[in-house]
Amino acid sequence: MSSILERAKNANVTRIMNVAFDAASLEKGLFFQKEFSSLLLAAATTPHDVTSEQDSFFSIVKKAAQEGLLKAIGESGLEYFHSPETKKRQQEVFLQYAALALEENLPLIVHCRQAFPDLFTLLKEFSLELQGVLHCFTGTYEDAIKLLDRGWYLSFTGIITYPKSVELQDIVKKIPLERMLVETDSPYLAPQTVRGKKNEPSFLPEIVSKVASIKGLSFEEVATVTFQNACQLFGV
Ligand SMILES: [Zn+2]
Repeated sequence: MSSILERAKNANVTRIMNVAFDAASLEKGLFFQKEFSSLLLAAATTPHDVTSEQDSFFSIVKKAAQEGLLKAIGESGLEYFHSPETKKRQQEVFLQYAALALEENLPLIVHCRQAFPDLFTLLKEFSLELQGVLHCFTGTYEDAIKLLDRGWYLSFTGIITYPKSVELQDIVKKIPLERMLVETDSPYLAPQTVRGKKNEPSFLPEIVSKVASIKGLSFEEVATVTFQNACQLFGV
């Protein structure tokens, strides 16, 4: 862990959202959060991990949120590409975590793959006070607009650096920088120059560079504004 953080620091990545997805990773996250000031912590059952274990983890996440130990609830959401067989359960779990986020006044980190119509239906149950970010955004421009209309942020990963991601690059071009976050989504989706490698926070500058070149802005401007956006959303 400390060498990953060292490399991140050398790449000027000064804040890292660590996402816990079960009791063991949350316990580790709480420990690391005390040790390393650059780390922030979020927790929830991911749509990949929707199992019978979930109920006990929810109460652990709730307690951590109530104790002020989390900066966000997530990632929670819908993953219909990899796990279409658990759709119903994913929806139930998402509703539970979204309600918790609203109750604890924490932003929600949402995962959504090939499930936007259902996500928007579920979100109708929540007031606009539910703030969030659609992480690793891979939807359409229409999906992006609906999320922006809710006041949410869209977060982009190394996917935008891949030559075939033309549609996504066009969305990056069209939406305001003030509503964008950048992330690595480590350990997956390493950006183009290190594609296939284990992804880590130090690879973030390549994503910032790509946003800058797509939008015709400087690296510094994209880095500064997306950092401010993240600080605003996560209250740091
Ligand atoms: Zn995700």
